[in-house]
Amino acid sequence: MRQKNSDIIILGAGLVGAALALRLAQDGLQVTVFDRQDLSAKPPNDHRTTAISYGSSQILAGVGVWQKLLPKAQPIRAIQILDATTRLDFDHRLVRAEPMGHIIENAALRLELRLAMASQKNLQLISPITLQDLKADAGEITATSGGKSWRAAAAVIADGRQSVWRDKLGLSVRRHDYGQTAVIANVTHALPHDDTAFECFLPAGPLALLPMPDWRGRPQSSLVWTEPKNRAQALQALAADEFCALLQERFGDHLGSFAISGPRQAYPLDIVYATPVYAARAVVIGDAAHGIHPIAGQGLNLGLRDVALLADLFAQQAARGMDLGSPLLLADYARRRSFDTVSMQAATHGLNWLFGQKAVPITSARRLGLRLVDAIPGLKPAFIKRAMGDF
Ligand SMILES: Cc1cc2nc3c(=O)[nH]c(=O)nc-3n(C[C@H](O)[C@H](O)[C@H](O)COP(=O)(O)OP(=O)(O)OC[C@H]3O[C@@H](n4cnc5c(N)ncnc54)[C@H](O)[C@@H]3O)c2cc1C
Repeated sequence: MRQKNSDIIILGAGLVGAALALRLAQDGLQVTVFDRQDLSAKPPNDHRTTAISYGSSQILAGVGVWQKLLPKAQPIRAIQILDATTRLDFDHRLVRAEPMGHIIENAALRLELRLAMASQKNLQLISPITLQDLKADAGEITATSGGKSWRAAAAVIADGRQSVWRDKLGLSVRRHDYGQTAVIANVTHALPHDDTAFECFLPAGPLALLPMPDWRGRPQSSLVWTEPKNRAQALQALAADEFCALLQERFGDHLGSFAISGPRQAYPLDIVYATPVYAARAVVIGDAAHGIHPIAGQGLNLGLRDVALLADLFAQQAARGMDLGSPLLLADYARRRSFDTVSMQAATHGLNWLFGQKAVPITSARRLGLRLVDAIPGLKPAFIKRAMGDF
């Protein structure tokens, strides 16, 4: 059996696994990353965009990727929260001069991460591959496939929401199906977005329009439209003009008339989380540890904060010449990430519930809550800071 040794092996080279691989390799660690998809081929069929918070852009800048993405990124300078009767405006100038965040196409982000991984000498990317086993013993953890094995001090599981390795490690997993699907598409509109992200809370589910660079001379936004599963299927089946007419009926005239500028895709929504997030010499990060509702556009931002802390802990441990798979290190990581993770899970779950309620006492309390955020000094900047990834 041929053996290949690295400090860390990472299972899953998605947005989170790739960012961690780069950070660890740049810190001088020997890293092997595995993905079941062929990452040498064209990027996966992902037409989503991601709202990257200010904090996440700093993490991506740290691995040298943000500088390449910035020319393609659309700044978000304001957020408008709308429900049937209330409107709440957040402006970045309440907090700082920089934008609150940026919208970036997932395909562009994946491509830059992939190119950066390819140019990193102490980083080996193996894809496509189906690993058969992952076994820890006192001194190392070993991944195997087709008679080959790769040994490392620790394994990081970053294989996404449907993680098979999280399950194979025997970690307890909780899941709740929202019975909702997010339909995504890029749309152009008659009126400019003025760098504003709109979050519209409808009884069927949230509808977000996130600003994008112009498309063929027309202002463009990226749509994330959440509906109950059966209605989402019907939405996808609509002709483009019917889809746009219904969108305008739901969203109103804030951006004028719509036209579709990209493919429609559907993402079934659930919340999934692992407890604990570590086992012997293995730790779970990103959506594999905590897949949340996209209502606040925070899933990747949460995963990148996993990356930042885990990479710091590995770097400090390596500098001391100590075991990277130490249970103390993994437990420390889990403890220090739990507040952010649990509060974000609760916030996204709670928001989706709160804005889905039709009972009058709840809708009145909701309206009052929105007005209080507007009225109480200091509350709005606190919300903006949180959305920007400041803690
Ligand atoms: C509609 C929608 C909109 C969103 N918008 C935002 C947003 O605006 N802002 C934000 O922060 N987040 C957003 N998110 C969340 C964000 O997309 C995810 O949090 C992020 O993609 C998670 O990255 P990941 O690397 O953990 O998982 P993934 O991106 O799912 O990557 C997992 C990787 O693991 C690989 N893999 C899978 N199984 C295996 C296996 N068995 N062995 C090896 N490799 C494997 C896959 O091929 C893939 O490359 C949104 C999500 C949705 C659904």
